[in-house]
This record gives sequence, structure tokens and C-alpha cells, in this order.
Amino acid sequence: MKEEPARSGTPPFLKRRNPLGDWFLQFVETERSRPATRRWAALTVLAALAATYAIVYATGGTRYSYAHFAYVPIVIGAFSFGIRGGLLTGLAAGLLMGPPMPLEVESGTAQSMHNWLVRASFFLLIGALSGIAADLLRRQVKALSRQAYRDRMTRLPNRAAYLERIEAVLAARRPSDPPVVALTVGIGNFEELILSFGYPYADQLYRVASDRLLQLLSPETELFAIRAGLFATIHRSAEEARSIGAKFARALGERFEIGGIPTLSSGHVGIAMAQEGIDALTLTRESIACFHRAEKANEAIVVHDGRFDRLRQSTLRLLPDLQEAIRSGNCLSLHYQPILDLKTGHCKGAEALLRWEHPELGPIPPGDFIPAAEKTALMGELTRLVIDRSLRQMKQWQAEGFELDFYVNISVRDLEDERFAASTAKLLSNHAVPAPRLVLEVTENALMRDPAAAMRSLARLRQLGVGVALDDFGTGQSSLSYLAKLPVDVIKLDASFAHEVEADPQVGVVVRLAVDAAHQLGQKVVAEGIETRSALQKFQDLSCDFGQGYLLSRPLAADTFRGWLFDHRLSVLRGKDAFAGQDPQGLRRMQPH
Ligand code: C2E
Ligand code: MG
Ligand code: MG
Repeated sequence: MKEEPARSGTPPFLKRRNPLGDWFLQFVETERSRPATRRWAALTVLAALAATYAIVYATGGTRYSYAHFAYVPIVIGAFSFGIRGGLLTGLAAGLLMGPPMPLEVESGTAQSMHNWLVRASFFLLIGALSGIAADLLRRQVKALSRQAYRDRMTRLPNRAAYLERIEAVLAARRPSDPPVVALTVGIGNFEELILSFGYPYADQLYRVASDRLLQLLSPETELFAIRAGLFATIHRSAEEARSIGAKFARALGERFEIGGIPTLSSGHVGIAMAQEGIDALTLTRESIACFHRAEKANEAIVVHDGRFDRLRQSTLRLLPDLQEAIRSGNCLSLHYQPILDLKTGHCKGAEALLRWEHPELGPIPPGDFIPAAEKTALMGELTRLVIDRSLRQMKQWQAEGFELDFYVNISVRDLEDERFAASTAKLLSNHAVPAPRLVLEVTENALMRDPAAAMRSLARLRQLGVGVALDDFGTGQSSLSYLAKLPVDVIKLDASFAHEVEADPQVGVVVRLAVDAAHQLGQKVVAEGIETRSALQKFQDLSCDFGQGYLLSRPLAADTFRGWLFDHRLSVLRGKDAFAGQDPQGLRRMQPH
């Protein structure tokens, strides 16, 4: 493991919060600080000694108590230069206040030797004691600053050290030099590993991972531990960063065995290059954002490009507009996508999908604003708005003779909100809709954030009588035994199955297993993303209960959906092909989405 580099020892928290403390510590640190500071300290001591001599002489000699002024230069000397400084200044003050200084200036009476020797001994004693105190304090400051710059778990230099180092490298860079490259590497799904195995295991994993990465580095490249599961390095070229990044990702993707428990995770790398005028914090943020992108997309390396950052920032900037849209109720609407019974062709339900027409930017897809909303309390308001509007719509179509189940997507935030079940119950009673008509869709990934809490939340919802569907089934990494325990009524097979089931017979086998298992557990299965006739046929052959997809119908605005419902009912009654959908060109014209 590398030794922490020498750096100015004042911990950053003291530097930032307490300028007086900083000044004092600078003083205490004179031994290690710049020669200029040391020179200033030495001059201060000499000046204070001279001033003491002048004061004592001017006030009539050592008979009077002004000789005590000598403690000032002694303490300054001790705190500036440690025990040696204290003793030296004590000796100098003792001599100055010794033979050259009369007992009484006016009468010219000299001091007795005993007199000045006792005083000089006191000066030496105070010099030694203050020097010891200063040295102890200095050692304490050193230890503190070491702690402030080291990660407790890996003993590597930490984020504070990393930021300072990048700042220094950026400041030292000349315009003709290659750009500074920041690399962030981390263990994939580290938070899930903590949840599954606990903190001691994750800490140990972090340590072992740091050893693996250190082995790949040359002695000149420093490894920093910037956050649990996350490391960083600084490079002189993008090629170097890419090549070491690939090795890092491979190393962290290899099996770990800690305390006899094996784990297989993944390694991901984010790389950002410093452009003109960029600061250390921004460069670090960019490389961490790239790491998260790599982790999400399950890629080994993602290199920063400004476009992504602008997009992300603009999505975040959209949040106030979204808040306004929720408050005013304008610009947000629901589209409905039919869910058909694959045996009879009847429309059994509809999934409510949110649409946002931004006043300036035009339509914004849910995939662009929902992940940002999920990070804020807006998500709860948004879900309530969707449930409220869906239930009102359901009531209208019920009155026209359509008995449909309404599928509404909820987010991880709703699952974590203790009041969510109660507010859903209130909405159901406001609209006088029977609870089983509402099916709430949750994704496997949302459940995995905190499996135990999610389980409790689902149980509360089911007590209300509403249905629960597992959305995008097959995209997560949860075990079958965990899924089997989930209190869900419907499984929605992810659209990727629909795309692959035609070409790959093995996917067909997997779907059959999933459908059989779901039926045994009393659950229904919806196949999502059906776009072709042959995919539809496959899912029918595999005994899927329901289907949803562009072949059957795209998501439609409420009025269009109502028209579709009437047409579809007629087609089924007349024995026409219920799965023919609509003329795709015509639909595209109506619904560009
Ligand atoms: P999802 O819940 O899996 O919704 C299905 C998505 O697949 C919808 O995209 C739908 O338009 C699209 N889709 C349907 N059939 C096909 C097909 O045959 N082929 C293809 N390629 N796509 C098809 P959309 O409306 O863009 O929604 C995307 C995601 O945004 C949804 O995925 C859901 O996770 C989220 N979302 C949409 N509305 C809401 C909402 O009100 N609340 C929450 N929390 N999430 C929502
Ligand atoms: Mg859904
Ligand atoms: Mg889905």
C-alpha cells in the first residue's frame, strides 16, 4: 500500500471553518512550513526579545515585575520551533535579563548572580514546557490531518486528498500539456451487496478490491478511495486511462471470496478529461457520473462526453417545470395501452402511461423525466395524479359498459412511502372504484432497493385489495426463490422476451418455465412489447394469459382509446381478427409517440 504523500498538514475542515485556528496552526506548524514563515517566526521572537529588554530597562530594571514580559517571546519561540525553540529563547531571555540588565537602572545596582540564575532557570523551564506542549499539539495535528486524508477502511488517501491532488495537478498544468484525465472505478451494485451481506462483508470486499487495483498500478500512479466501493486515479492521457480502466474493470469482475462466501460482481469505469477552465470538483463529478452510466448500462468503460452531462443537467432543470405542471394539472396527460386476453382477444385492461407536453420543449418521454422525478418528493405527487386520473377515466368507461383493469406504474419512492397505501385507499373511495380493478406495477429493481420494506409495502397494498404486477420481469437479478415469495398477482414479461422469443428457442423454454411457475403460484402473465404476428403466436402457444404491444395497439390518448374500445368490441363480436390491431400508418399519424 502506498504511503500518503506529504502535504500541508492542516486538515481541510479546520482550514475552512476557522481562519483564526488556521493561523494558529500555521504558526504551530512552522517547523514543517515554508522557509518564509519560519523566517517570520524567528524575526517575531527576536523582536519580542528586544522589546522585552527595552521595556524592562525603561521601567527601571529587574526589581520590578516587567521582566515577566520575557514569557511572550519564550512561548512564541516554543510554539514556532518546538522544544528546541523554547529552550533557546528561554536561554536568550535568561541571559538578556541577566548580567546586562541592572536590578535598578536609576541607582545602577547590579543583580546578584543567584537572582538572575533563578530567573533564567524559570525561563528555561517555561521554554521547555511550552515546547513540549507545542510538540504534542503538533503531533496531534499531524495525526488529525493523516486521518482527514485517509480512508479508514482501505488506508488509501481519501476523497479530500484526491480533490487536493487534482486541484494541484490542474494548477500545475501548462496549456501545451496533455489534458488531465480523471478515472473513477467501482464495484457494480455495491449498495445491493451491502444490503445482501451486511457492512462488515462489504468493508472487507472494498479492502480486497483496493488490493487488486493496487497490484495493477505502477508506483507513480496513486489510488484514492473516494467513497464506499469507489476508487479514483489521475492520468496523463486518455489512452493510459482506457488501458488501465479495462484492467480495473476486469479485475473487479472476477470472483471474490470473503470469509468463505463467494461473490461475483462487476467492475465499471468512468473517465473524464479536463477541459479548459474546469475545476477539480466538476472533473470528479463528471467521472463519477460516467461510472454510474457504465454501471447502469452494464458496460466496462464510459468516457465523458459533454452531451450526456448537458442532457442530465437539463433533465434536472426540468424538475421545477414538472412541479408546475403537476400543480396546474396542465400539460400532463395519460395515454392508455390496451391489454388483451390472448385466448379470446377481449380487451381486459389498459396500462396508463404518462405523457408530458412541455410548453417550450414539446413532448418529453417518461424515460427522460421519471428517473429525475424519482429522486425527489415530486414522484409521490405524480403517482397520485396518475392514479386519480386513471380512476376517474375508469369510472367513465365503466359507465359506457367497459369493465377494464387499470394498470398504473408506481415507483420505488411510493413503495418507501408509508402513507402510500392510505392515500391510494382514499382515492379508490373518492371515485367509488372497486380496489381489484386497480393494478399497481412495480419493477423488480424497485423492489430490490430494500427488499424487506418493499415486501411490507406490497402486503399493505394487497390488504387494500388492489392488484400488484411485477413489471419488466426478467430484467433484474433477483433469485427465483425471492420472486416466488413476492405477493404479486400478475407478472409482466419484459419486452426483450418478445423480441427474442421468435429467433431463440431457448428463450421460449425460459418463458414456458416462467409462465408455468407463475400459474402454479396463482399469478397471471402479461407479455409486453408484442410487435409481430409470430411473437403473438409464440406467446399464445406458451399459454401466456394477456398481451400488450404495438401490434395490438400503441398507447392512445383517452378519446382515441375510447374509439378503439368500441371498434375492438365490434370486431370481437363479429368474430373478426381481434389481434389485427389498427392500421399502423393511421395510428402513427394519430399518435406519434
Ligand atoms: P413500462 O411500464 O414497461 O411501459 C411500457 C413501455 O413500453 C411504454 O413506454 C410503452 O409505450 C412501450 N411499449 C408498449 N408496447 C411496445 C412495443 O410493442 N414495442 C416497444 N418497443 N415498446 C412498447 P413509455 O410510455 O415510453 O414508458 C416508458 C416507461 O416509463 C414505462 O415502462 C414506465 O416504467 C415509465 N412510466 C410511464 N408512465 C409512468 C407513470 O405514470 N408512472 C411511473 N412511475 N412510470 C411511468
Ligand atoms: Mg409498466
Ligand atoms: Mg414494462
